[in-house]
Amino acid sequence: MSSIDTIANNPYVTARTKKSLNVDGTCVVYWMQRSQRATDNRALNIAVAAANALSKPVVVFFGLRRNAHHANYRHYHFMVQGLADVAEGLQKRGIGFVLRRHPEHDIVRFCAQVRPCLVISDEDPLRRAERGRIRAARELAASFWTVDSDVIVPSRLLGKEHYAARTIRPKIHKELPRFLTRVPEVRVKVRWQTALRLQSLNPETKLLDELPMESAVGPANSFTGGSEAARSILERFLTDRLNGYSKNRNHPEVDGTSQLSPYLHFGHIGPHTVATAVQQTDAPAEDRKAFLEEFIVRRELAVNFVRYNPKYDCYDSGEPWADQTLRLHAKDSRLYLYAEEQLENAETHDPLWNAAQKQMALTGWMHGYLRMYWAKKILEWRRSPAEAHEIAVRLNDRYELDGRDPNGYAGIAWAIVGKHDRAWGPERPVYGKIRYMSYASTSRKFNSKAYIQRIAALERG
Ligand code: FAD
Repeated sequence: MSSIDTIANNPYVTARTKKSLNVDGTCVVYWMQRSQRATDNRALNIAVAAANALSKPVVVFFGLRRNAHHANYRHYHFMVQGLADVAEGLQKRGIGFVLRRHPEHDIVRFCAQVRPCLVISDEDPLRRAERGRIRAARELAASFWTVDSDVIVPSRLLGKEHYAARTIRPKIHKELPRFLTRVPEVRVKVRWQTALRLQSLNPETKLLDELPMESAVGPANSFTGGSEAARSILERFLTDRLNGYSKNRNHPEVDGTSQLSPYLHFGHIGPHTVATAVQQTDAPAEDRKAFLEEFIVRRELAVNFVRYNPKYDCYDSGEPWADQTLRLHAKDSRLYLYAEEQLENAETHDPLWNAAQKQMALTGWMHGYLRMYWAKKILEWRRSPAEAHEIAVRLNDRYELDGRDPNGYAGIAWAIVGKHDRAWGPERPVYGKIRYMSYASTSRKFNSKAYIQRIAALERG
């Protein structure tokens, strides 16, 4: 069995306080935030390993907050669907589960009740989540660690903001032999039982009733949250879609991608499970390579961006050359200008853009190829690039199930402010040297008519 010091030295772990372990504590608490799953969860396994070293049980705490940033009923609904799988999986592993909601959702109050030896949580580079952990580190009486469990290569090892896939790729590839392995399940030595009467909600009950949140955006019925559903979606991808992914992924008229992004965003499935499953198939090497490039290099470049660029969701996160060129074209006349409401209601002159917006609003997910086109057109149809950036973030976060994610902030920054991209010629009105996409060029790449018809059929129900 590993000692506590060996566990603390795991490259995925960061000690967030200098407080020493409370060896007289009753348990180890895992404060589940980003990695909402009971298996293939490195942070939970580290909590179990630490508890085993201390001969204590583990309890998982999940606190449902109200009005989470840019979250609405659609996001909450998907998230709580996943909690039943969490409860069942933890019970099988002999791990306790305490689920509370606002105003009882506070980790510090919970820990004052159970008096843990150690508290462990997930890392998440988004600033609001990070603020919660800074407060926890200050106020928790126990020692507090975080675990970077939703990336393949621990993000702090990449050290600084990288400017492009080409600069981060060699660094990530160098680390893959060390970090791209399955997450081994660690068995508990002491099963959870407590004499304390700990109030906890049942995940099968109506958890969202009376929880304050924006409720105008309804559930995305084409996706069901949870680890079970995530594993089925991964299976479907491996058997039906991985073969041919390198070509089909740029064809929104067919469903050629995994559609795992909502599950990855809520941590219903772990990145190691997905990447090792793809590696082990006998799909053509070019398809596996294309997928792992998006899934590891692009996804971890996005995490790197959000971790090291404090302005990640603003226009100011962009590259100086992009700001310069956009300023130079600020006064260019725009052929079309749309109010945010017209964009939100898909009321533009462009049928492809409208279809993409509708796919997102109706289903909670937009095809990746169209996400690029969608964001670039907002730049074209607004008077100011900063406003365009703001609107893209707001709509993306509001309607995408996978919104409010590093990938979204990096994708929008790529499309509008040149992040991880380079200057392109010839210089064009409004865009300047920002990479341009047009209806005509996009429609040459895939059958846009078939896509538009598909979304129209979806709309008719
Ligand atoms: P697949 O092609 O099956 O890829 C598998 C996984 O790899 C994805 O789920 C995702 O985690 C990762 N991935 C794929 N492409 C990218 C990429 N370009 N950058 C980073 N990671 C990638 N992704 C989100 O998760 N949330 C968002 O809110 C989001 N908004 C975006 C907005 C814009 C303007 C752009 C250009 C991209 C955005 N992306 C976002 C990135 C990407 O488009 C989606 O991750 C992908 O389309 C999700 O579909 P999928 O799971 O079927 O992808």
